[in-house]
Amino acid sequence: DHALSETDPEVRSIIDKEKQRQFKSLELIASENFTSRAVMEAVGSCLTNKYSEGLPGKRYYGGNEHIDELETLCQQRALAAFHLDNNKWGVNVQPLSGSPANFEVYTAVLNPHDRIMGLDLPHGGHLSHGFMTPKRRVSGTSIYFESMPYRLDETTGIVDYDMLERTANLFRPKLIIAGASAYPRDFDYPRMRKIADAVGAFLMMDMAHISGLVAASVVADPFEYCDIVTTTTHKSLRGPRGGMIFFRKDPVLGVDLESAINNAVFPGLQGGPHNHTIGGLAVCLKHAQSPEFKVYQNKVIANCRALASRLVELGYKLVSGGSDNHLVLVDLRPLGIDGARVEKILDMASITLNKNSVPGDKSALVPGGIRIGSPAMTTRGFTEKEFAAVADFIHEGVKITLDAKPLAPGSKLQEFLKFVTTSDFPLTDRVSD
Ligand code: PLP
Repeated sequence: DHALSETDPEVRSIIDKEKQRQFKSLELIASENFTSRAVMEAVGSCLTNKYSEGLPGKRYYGGNEHIDELETLCQQRALAAFHLDNNKWGVNVQPLSGSPANFEVYTAVLNPHDRIMGLDLPHGGHLSHGFMTPKRRVSGTSIYFESMPYRLDETTGIVDYDMLERTANLFRPKLIIAGASAYPRDFDYPRMRKIADAVGAFLMMDMAHISGLVAASVVADPFEYCDIVTTTTHKSLRGPRGGMIFFRKDPVLGVDLESAINNAVFPGLQGGPHNHTIGGLAVCLKHAQSPEFKVYQNKVIANCRALASRLVELGYKLVSGGSDNHLVLVDLRPLGIDGARVEKILDMASITLNKNSVPGDKSALVPGGIRIGSPAMTTRGFTEKEFAAVADFIHEGVKITLDAKPLAPGSKLQEFLKFVTTSDFPLTDRVSD
């Protein structure tokens, strides 16, 4: 066996370039993070070689004694990391990622064309919660199920629970989905529970973005009110790319969630689990129970607040006026520019974030906002001071976007690019392959 650099220098070189990009840039994409060396060691291990369709103790292949031990350990750690009683809650750690995990839940508890309600994508929801446009059913969720979104109150930027309640009473969904990809506030789980109960719907939370914050108990706990909780594992939780589904063990609305969900994962929608990911996830979930993890998640929130308050000082309009979690959503429309151009200019300066639609946007292609997250740079040691400086950098980028002219030597843009790409951001060993 030879090293990658010998067997495939082309791929080795692409990995090296990506590693350099990750080192050099200010990573502000709210759904990204730098996982640990220990997680990467598990993900890059021989666990990838093994087939293990089924669940621990009930496999369709031989040779699974160690994989059984690993998956059982991962399940136990998942329940412990989220403070769950294993008499009341179970978990499936096999979902390949967040979108498959969600579709597996729908497959488990719905029939084709049953009705669902999730937060509309242009208002911060995720594609897999049922996104469709007037012309097209975009997500598979909206192809196979009937989706009616709920939205934010555009004046406050907070979920319009009254509208959700009224619509749910008319539409009578079988499943209501909490959770978002671009929502800077906590969900009102007690209110959503009441709305779901009134129409006899399941209540699911997709906590993908905030699962690290939930594990550290620094945001509201969805498990108290929801029947099912899904998550990705690679965002604020800082694990490998993957997904998990938590379910109540007691039947809900006459459905045995445990067998319905386990069967939807396999054989319903997946084959062999990715055991290398389950190995990395087990490592991540051990760390998620440590005191340092709680300290880290508190810093994620403090850093995001520092970023938000500096942006507000600089005159920016934030959706909902601020943030309770790890991200802010900046509405750039009052400045007369869009998120796409700001994303591009900042990208040229190695500041990585994403354009994002904001409530009231007319076009999803040229959205009016940007989304900025604190988890990744907090992993790299940034404190509130550096996050305030990040707000200043973004402000420079916005000013340059506002008077962007062709790039000329000595132009403000060129000076800015030179400054940002040569300044000395702290490096850690987090970015290793
Ligand atoms: N759910 C939410 C709330 C998300 O934000 C995302 C991804 O950003 C997903 C699900 C989908 O996860 P994946 O990209 O792993 O399929």
